[in-house]
Parts: sequence; C-alpha cells; structure tokens
Amino acid sequence: MKTTTIVAATVGVLTVATIGYAMYFDSKRRNDPEFRRKLKKERKRAQKLANDEAKKLSNHSAQTVDEALASIKDDDFPTSMEDREKFCMEQLSAGEALFTQGPQHFGEAAICFYKALKVYPAPAELVMVYQKTIPPEVFTVVMGMLSKDVHSKQEKYYTVFPPKEMNVKVEEKPEGVTAEGQKVVRRGLIATKAFAAGQTIYTEVPVISSLEPSLEGKDFCHYCLKQIATKDSKVPCSKCTRAVFCSEGCKTSAGQEFHDILCAKDADDVDVSEQSLHEYTKETRKLVPEMLAKFLVKMVYEESQNSGAEYNSFDHMERLRYLDVPAGPDEKKEMDLLKVALGSNIPGIDEFITEERYLVMKGRLLYNLYGISTSSDVQREMKILPEKFRSVRDGPITGAGFYKVTSYLMHSCEPNAKLVFSKHDHEVSIVTTREVKAGEELYVGYIKSENLSTEERRLELFTRYRFQCMCPLCETTD
Ligand SMILES: [Zn+2]
Ligand SMILES: [Zn+2]
Ligand SMILES: [Zn+2]
Repeated sequence: MKTTTIVAATVGVLTVATIGYAMYFDSKRRNDPEFRRKLKKERKRAQKLANDEAKKLSNHSAQTVDEALASIKDDDFPTSMEDREKFCMEQLSAGEALFTQGPQHFGEAAICFYKALKVYPAPAELVMVYQKTIPPEVFTVVMGMLSKDVHSKQEKYYTVFPPKEMNVKVEEKPEGVTAEGQKVVRRGLIATKAFAAGQTIYTEVPVISSLEPSLEGKDFCHYCLKQIATKDSKVPCSKCTRAVFCSEGCKTSAGQEFHDILCAKDADDVDVSEQSLHEYTKETRKLVPEMLAKFLVKMVYEESQNSGAEYNSFDHMERLRYLDVPAGPDEKKEMDLLKVALGSNIPGIDEFITEERYLVMKGRLLYNLYGISTSSDVQREMKILPEKFRSVRDGPITGAGFYKVTSYLMHSCEPNAKLVFSKHDHEVSIVTTREVKAGEELYVGYIKSENLSTEERRLELFTRYRFQCMCPLCETTD
C-alpha cells in the first residue's frame, strides 16, 4: 500500500480515536493541556525510535542528514491548520514519487517525508507507517533528521535561556557519583561577567507567587504581594473578599493570568465546590496546591497569547529538579480540589492531572520555591508555615514565589549572592555578597545556617533538598 493511502486510512481511524486532524486542527483543542500532553507523549515515542535509527546512520547518510536539515527553513512550513493538512499530504505524495525514481532521489524523498512529519499531528503514528512503507535507507535518514532536530531544540534551550541581559548562564556541573558509579551532574547558574560586592546581577519576577494565607484580603496585594500602606487605597476584587490589590495594574494582571478563573466568589454566588481549593489553602496553610492551580491557568493564558515564544512555562518547569513526593491522602484530596477548581474552565484538566504528574509538579514547586518577605513590619508575628521554602531570613515570610532563572541557583553555606526584595514586592534582585568573577558559579543560601553545626546543616539540606552540601564550609569542617 502507498504511504498516502495508509496515512489517509490512519487519519480516519485516529479521528475516531480522539487524536487526529479533526481535533488537531480545531484551534480550541490546541489549548487543551491534556491534548497537548498526549502529543508530547507521542513525540517521545517517535523520538526514541528516531534515536535508535539514527545510530544506524553510515557516514554517508549522516552527511545526507546534515545537508537535508540545512536545506529546510522554518518558513517552509505553513502556519494555518488547513494549509498544514494539505501540505502534509503534498509532501507525502512528492516523497513517494521521488523514492520510486531510484536511490539517487532518496535524499530528496527523505526531506519530503521529514517535512510531512513535522506538521503531522501524531508523529509516532506516521513514523510507524513510514517504517512499513518507505525504503529502509530513506527511513533511516528521515529518523536521523528527526533525532538531530529534536536534540538541537533541547540543546538550544540553554543558549536562549536565561536571556543574555540577565548576566547569567546555566551550566552543568559534576555532582559526585551514584552508588553504581554513574556520574551525577547538576545544573548551576554562572555569572557571565564580573561583579563587585553588593552589585545586582539581575532582577526577576516570578512565574507565580502566593501570599501567606492569613494575609489574604487584608493589607497585602494578591498579585505582587506588596504590603499596602494604610494611606494608600486598596483595589478590591469585585467578586470576592479574598483578593485585594495594590493597584489597578495588579488587579488586571492577576485577573488575566489566574484570578478570573480562580476567584472564589462570595456566598451569594453559591458555587460552593469552587471555593474548596482556597478553603483548603486557608485551613492547611499549604501554598503549593493552589500555586499549581495558578500555574496551570497561567500556562493556558500564555498559550492563548500566541507570543511566539519557543518555550512555555511548562518547558521551563519541566527542566527543574524536584523532590520525590510520595502519594498520600493529602495529595489525593489536593488533586480532586484542583480538578474542581479548574474543571469547568480548562477542558481536559481531569485527564491531565494524573497522580504521577501531580506529584512531580508538586515536588518541583516544593524544591524550587523561595520564601518572599514583603512586610514592612519585621516584628510581625506569624506562625511558621507547614511547607518549607528556600530562605535565610529571620523575619516573617509573607509568601512564596516560583522563579524560572533563580530556581537554578545552588545552595552554599557560604554563598556569594543573596536574594533582595528591594521593591518590597515579589520581584527579586540577585545581589552579590562579595566580589564575583566572570565564569564563577553563583550560590545563595537555601536555609538559614549560621547557628547550625556542619552536621545539622548537612542533615537539613539532605532532608529538604536531597544533596550532600560540598560547599567550602562543609568540606573544611568535615
Ligand atoms: Zn500589587
Ligand atoms: Zn476575586
Ligand atoms: Zn555547606
């Protein structure tokens, strides 16, 4: 059977089986996280096959792969959904016509098949079809192209992130060996230029932040966490008593990014189920479950903005370290509450929040969140939160934030940088505590360590962050 025939037949089957053109080309479904995740899983499967196949490449074919990839530009691909479907079928027919003309056309045929694959909604399925229908020499080249392309996107991530103007880059560093003797690497943040002591390296606003629950609705901004001075007027949410803002700007941003969906309306708007997640937050004083809800809503918002950014918040989060969170009754409850809170607004969220995914996302936030201190009253009496966040402060923590770049800062008991909230809101500045040379790794403290013995420090760091501190202080006092 010809490739086009099989693909046409497969499309029919897939449409019924929920993944296929019909849904892919429906722009509303493209914002559905579950649908997107399914695509991702498919791509991973195809990727594995591509990697295995790429290993078979001879020198000659490897050269063909490089040349073929070099001949393809991003603007070769149509953007509209209808055009992509048509384009896919055209490339498949052209590919078939070419390879039947003999081996001298295999390179060109591979380019056509590769282009079709790039726009096909379920690449793994198409790869299986290719495997059965196109000559092995062509197949290997197509898979080599796919493998190389995906790797370069992976590698490219840390060349475009963090943005150059932040004066830092992410680099891999050795971190000992496992019991089996395998090398362990971690990622750290490196200064790209020299700084004197006390200089600001960069500032960053969090992807999401949350207030300590007892401060909600009082004199702290629900969006930027700033304390609202008595003389300044508060901007309340028009629907709930829970959220007040320091400005119209914060109210608008919060509304767009998460609050319009997560706003727990007051009693007369009686959908009691929607209030549960935030009641749970208030009751348990745990910030993470609701921060995950905010994160997911914001992700959908970012997608709807079509900013053209190559990597979304999920891509950023996915690369970060996480804690292993065991599944317990709390997690089960949190997942249910999250689904209820988002259910009617984010289609597909039910399937998206699997136990495995929830635990990993929760573990990522627990590992990477920083405590934020925005209170002007350092004596403010506040109970300790049940979740622990990275912080070296004595004063009360008024909230927590999840930062894309700052998450990469490693801990040292003798850090060369610190977090400063100079605007008294959730924007963080990374400030050097001593001179830092270009190329030097930056460290902050994850825990307040001054009054702890080396043993206590190491134990706490290991319990909370699963690493053996190898900072100069820990190494010399061993
Ligand atoms: Zn604000
Ligand atoms: Zn509200
Ligand atoms: Zn240490």
